[in-house]
Amino acid sequence: MKHPRFDIDLDKHYNATVVIACVACGHENRHHLKSLSPDHSLRCQCGNDISMTHTAMQAAQRRVSELKQAYRIS
Ligand SMILES: [Zn+2]
Repeated sequence: MKHPRFDIDLDKHYNATVVIACVACGHENRHHLKSLSPDHSLRCQCGNDISMTHTAMQAAQRRVSELKQAYRIS
């Protein structure tokens, strides 16, 4: 099972955006973390399935709290 590579962005309201790089075409797909759910299927513009696994979601949420700590807002 391939895990998608992803990055976390916090906007100025500290909403977390997950930036998921498509393994097929490399396009960066941006989704609000709140709107994602584990194993919910997302589709890249090239048609490739880039759904986040449960493990990837947990990693994303961990990354968000680390970022918030770094910004001293938690
Ligand atoms: Zn793609």
